[in-house]
Amino acid sequence: MNLLKNQSYRGRLAPSPTGLLHLGHARTFWVAQERARANGGMLILRNEDIDSTRFKLEFVPQMIEDLRWFGFEWQEGPDCGGPFGPYSQSERRPFYAAGLEKLRVGGFVYLCTCSRKDIRDAASAPNAGDDEGPIYPGTCRPKESVKCQVSSVMQSTNLTSHDTLHVTRGTRVNWRFRVPDGETISFTDGNCGEQKFVAGKDFGDFVVWRGDDVPAYQLACVVDDAAMQITEVVRGADLLMSTARQILLYRALGLTPPAFYHCALMLDEKGKRLAKRHDALSLRALRERGETPESLRRF
Ligand SMILES: [Zn+2]
Repeated sequence: MNLLKNQSYRGRLAPSPTGLLHLGHARTFWVAQERARANGGMLILRNEDIDSTRFKLEFVPQMIEDLRWFGFEWQEGPDCGGPFGPYSQSERRPFYAAGLEKLRVGGFVYLCTCSRKDIRDAASAPNAGDDEGPIYPGTCRPKESVKCQVSSVMQSTNLTSHDTLHVTRGTRVNWRFRVPDGETISFTDGNCGEQKFVAGKDFGDFVVWRGDDVPAYQLACVVDDAAMQITEVVRGADLLMSTARQILLYRALGLTPPAFYHCALMLDEKGKRLAKRHDALSLRALRERGETPESLRRF
């Protein structure tokens, strides 16, 4: 079932307000905008501010101003509304809780009490080749998938009214997605071509709801892209393997994945990927130095 098939192109910009936007973000976003324009489609701005431990409120208006200054134009977003709002992730918690509930009922997730240190210390934990850290060694993984577990992340999650609180309040308990070991997840990327990742080998069981009661990026992203009827996701190539994880989430949630288009990352003079620490290349700093959007758009 492909609900999106006959609809027009819907792309998105999904910045997180954890620092100033830099030229690397702008370049990827520009590709997203160009693709939306070339397809006569819509561009949606989604403010990925779900992780309140990392984002700073003052960055949100700056981020929107920087994007406008650079020449981005979106038709739906936190500043202008639209039919699929709210467009800030901090206001979309019930959507993610419903997603987690579906995964829980379907037996796709399990509770994991491991700390980051526990996982790091597990001798047999090679790193996944991306930002998700070591491959989860499976410490808390039940032998078989357990459907309809009765417990909850934390009382505040309010998943269902009759959830029994098995977890001591304040205990850091993650919900982790059980990947189908050995299955090859493949997709055709619009820019990078054929992609293949083996579940359980290239990446392991991943967190969908964090112990500090924050929905994880993977879940929030899938839930939002589906709910906002995004037809193509344009983002940085650092997220190629996360696309494999997300395809598993789409399947578990009974949703159709969008198309994907991953852009090469912008590197600094040392060959390192641009990060928010490269303040000199923030749009704000470049603007203050007298650069114009027109000159910067040549990349
Ligand atoms: Zn664990």
